[in-house]
Amino acid sequence: MTPEKLQNDSQTLHRFIQLHCDKKHHDVPKKKGVLEVAFQEKSLCELPYHLCEECETLFIYAYGRLKNCPHEHKPSCRKCPNPCYEKSMWNKMAKVMMFSGMQLGLTKIRKLFFK
Ligand SMILES: [Zn+2]
Repeated sequence: MTPEKLQNDSQTLHRFIQLHCDKKHHDVPKKKGVLEVAFQEKSLCELPYHLCEECETLFIYAYGRLKNCPHEHKPSCRKCPNPCYEKSMWNKMAKVMMFSGMQLGLTKIRKLFFK
């Protein structure tokens, strides 16, 4: 893991989880917080979020896994030979990734068609 990769992946994670929570959990009470992305005690950036409790837990969990990823060249988690996610968290994450990936894909397509 490198600081660049950690920062990049944390930002992607943040975008996906925030989008999923905005669209899917708009009637669930949310709280604001800030996740500090740090690599070997050095602060890289701060990610302010506004999430429901479930998504906050998932976000912090996923960030923790990412930060402690033992692979020097981190593979995509989906292709990892020794996945570190617990099954239930993995299932939640897969749902978020699928949903937000589709949302982002659609936005892109929409922009292509209707500028
Ligand atoms: Zn949520």
